[in-house]
Amino acid sequence: MLYSVRMRAAQGGAHEAGGRHISGAERLVGHELLTSTAAAMIRRALSHSRGAADYINFTVETVLTENLREANCLPIMSVEVPDAARGRSAALAALIQGGVTPAAAAAGIEKLACLTGSMRGAMLIDAQTGERLDSFADRGVRVSRMDVVDEQAYLCWLRRQGYSGAHIREAVVLASKVMAAPGVLAELCWSDDPDYTAGYVATPAGYTRFTRLKPLGSSVGGRVFFVGKNADLEELIYYLEQQPVLVKVPAGGEARSDAVSD
Ligand code: AMP
Repeated sequence: MLYSVRMRAAQGGAHEAGGRHISGAERLVGHELLTSTAAAMIRRALSHSRGAADYINFTVETVLTENLREANCLPIMSVEVPDAARGRSAALAALIQGGVTPAAAAAGIEKLACLTGSMRGAMLIDAQTGERLDSFADRGVRVSRMDVVDEQAYLCWLRRQGYSGAHIREAVVLASKVMAAPGVLAELCWSDDPDYTAGYVATPAGYTRFTRLKPLGSSVGGRVFFVGKNADLEELIYYLEQQPVLVKVPAGGEARSDAVSD
């Protein structure tokens, strides 16, 4: 048995009452990690670069082992870009390469770029037309109930490739769950952390990180999931929100000692 531990924090009251989203976190952990995971999530909500939360919603639920599914971790590629404009052009090309139409890829980037405040979830967008498919407005669809099969193996696998920071550690797990979803062609993300300018495009072929997808200091970020034409939206949203998924990395290799914090 595992525990699904979920946190979402806001400032100015609950999200539902108009509070500004500060931070969220999702883990699937064993009994021995439950209290330390919960404490780390509360610390994160109270000391986030987006501000201190005054509302924290915290949920702990048991997950039966027989309900768990596994997904393969996406391979990571990194692309150095000089600024956000060129990062977004490169992201557009990666989305098109992943099967999203040029119009839908441009619409997805535009929808993220036009947000005035951060959502706490993702927009579902039609990968052909670029139309918004979900009806969750500013909330979006929040992907929950995911983690890695073996945390040490995962951290080691990341370090071998030069990554050691929390952003990429969490994002690769989320993207790996999302790319194993029925009907999702690609994902686009940039962070709502004002100090973190990198973002990524994920497709089932891999996670491509671009060093700049937004200007430094911007605290508006978000995610877009591009959905293929025959997808069953209800089934997809159920999978994203409810299906517990553990992500596994390829075995073997030593960690690098010069890993960058990212
Ligand atoms: P972050 O990568 O944590 O900085 O989050 C950037 C944006 O991605 C947030 O503002 C949300 O819109 C979205 N997001 C964060 N976590 C999730 C999640 N678990 N599921 C769906 N969207 C998320």
